[in-house]
Amino acid sequence: DTLTNSFTTAIKKIRTFDDEKALSKALVELKKSLLKADVNHKVVKQLIDEVGIETRKGEIGKDQFLEALRTTLHKLLEVGGNKGFVFAPNPPTVILMTGLQGSGKTTTTGKLAHYLKSKQKKVLIVAADLQRLAAVEQLRQITTQIDVELYEDETTKNPVEVVSGALKKAKSGIYDVVLIDTAGRLAIDEELMDELKCVKDAANPSEIFYVADSMTGQDAVKTATTFKEKIGIDGVILSKYDGDSKGGVALGLSSQVKVPLRFIGSGEKMQDLEVFLPERVINRLMGFGDIEGLAEKTAGAIDEKQAKKLTKKIQKGKFNFNDFLEQMESMKKMGSMKSLMGMIPGMGNMSKALKDFDMENSSELKNIKSMVSSMTPKERENPDLLNNSRKGRIAKGCGLEIVEINRMIKQFKNAGKMAKKFSGKNGMKDLQAMMG
Ligand code: GDP
Ligand code: MG
Repeated sequence: DTLTNSFTTAIKKIRTFDDEKALSKALVELKKSLLKADVNHKVVKQLIDEVGIETRKGEIGKDQFLEALRTTLHKLLEVGGNKGFVFAPNPPTVILMTGLQGSGKTTTTGKLAHYLKSKQKKVLIVAADLQRLAAVEQLRQITTQIDVELYEDETTKNPVEVVSGALKKAKSGIYDVVLIDTAGRLAIDEELMDELKCVKDAANPSEIFYVADSMTGQDAVKTATTFKEKIGIDGVILSKYDGDSKGGVALGLSSQVKVPLRFIGSGEKMQDLEVFLPERVINRLMGFGDIEGLAEKTAGAIDEKQAKKLTKKIQKGKFNFNDFLEQMESMKKMGSMKSLMGMIPGMGNMSKALKDFDMENSSELKNIKSMVSSMTPKERENPDLLNNSRKGRIAKGCGLEIVEINRMIKQFKNAGKMAKKFSGKNGMKDLQAMMG
C-alpha cells in the first residue's frame, strides 16, 4: 500500500477507456488507492476533481487521463519556495534543524552534511540538543563516520550558549554551512517552543528545516503546521520515506502546510537523502522511474571516466574479477539497494519486495572478496584461466568449499553476460522486458 504501489496498480487497472462511465470508474479506482496510501482526504478530493475536469477538457482516453494526472500532481507538489539546499548570499549558511524527538533530526543533519560535503562544501555541525544524554555522542559517531567537524561544548547545558560559541567559530573559520541539531520532545509543548525560539534568536538562521517522520502520516502535517505557526519554518524534510511508510503524506504535505518539501530521507544510511523534485516524484509515482535521481546518486560513487572504461570492458566481454571488486566497492558507497531500485523505471514495485540488501555485511560479498583475494593477479585479470586445479587451490586458500567457488564463478560469469547485454543501446528496454 505504498503510494507508488497504489498509483501503479490504479493506473494498470485503467486499461482502455474512452467514455464518461469508464473515466468515473478510473477516478474511483485512483481515489481508493490514494486513500489507502494515507493521502489526506481533502487532498484526494481536490486531486480527483481536478483530474476529472482536466481529462474532460479533451477527448476522454487513457493518454488524456495520464496527462491530466501529471498536470494536477505538478500543481499539488509545486508549492512556491526554495528547492533542495539553498546557500545564503554570504557564508556561512546557517540551518536550524527542528522537529519532534525521534523524527530523524540528528540522522538528517548528518545526511545533509554528507550531501554538502559531496559538493565540496565545508560544514560545521553544532550539537545543540542537550536534552537527551546520548544526543551528543550520537552526533560524534555520525560526524566521525562522514568526516565532518562537530562543535560541542560540554561545559554548558544551555543550547543558546553552544550556538553562540559555534557561530563565533564559524565566522573566524571558512565554513560554508553550519547545521544546528536541536532538541525535540515527544510532543509539542511550551518548553520546547520557548527553547527553540531562544536558539533561533541566537542562531539567526538562513533557513529553518522541519524534519517530519513520514511514518506518522497525517500527524506529520499537523505538527509541521504548528511549528510553522510558532517558530516559522522554511522547508520540510520528510524522513523514513522507506520501510513501512505509506508515503501518501508526501503528496499533500507541501500544499497542506504551505511550505515546500525540500529533501526526502529514504533509509538509515548517510547516503539515503535526496533532493525533492516534483517531476522526479511524479515520474516515480506513475511508474516511469527516476533516471535523473539514479544518475545523481551513482555519480557521487562512480566517476565518469571509470564508468566509461568499465562499459567498454563489459562490451568486449573483458570484465574481470578486479572490476568486479571495484564495482562492489562503488555500490557500497551508493547506499541501500532498495532506495536505488525505486528509481529504476518499472521497478518501483520490486523495491518493496526486495529486502534491504546490506552491502557491507552480506556474507556473500565477504565470500566473494575472500575468493578473489586467494586468486593470483593473473587469475583475477583472466577468469578463463580458472581450471579445476586452480579452483581447488583457491578453495583451500579462502577456506570455502569447491562447490561454493564454482557457484560464485558461475554467478560472476552470468553477471558479466547480463552486464554486456544491458550496456548496449537497448539496455534499459531489455532490462524492463526481463522484469516484465
Ligand atoms: P531525532 O531524535 O529527531 O534526532 O532522531 P534520530 O536522528 O535520532 O533518528 C531516530 C531514528 O530514526 C534512528 O534510529 C534513525 O536511524 C532513524 N531514521 C532517521 N531517518 C531515517 C530514514 O530516513 N529512514 C529510516 N528507515 N530510519 C531513519
Ligand atoms: Mg537527535
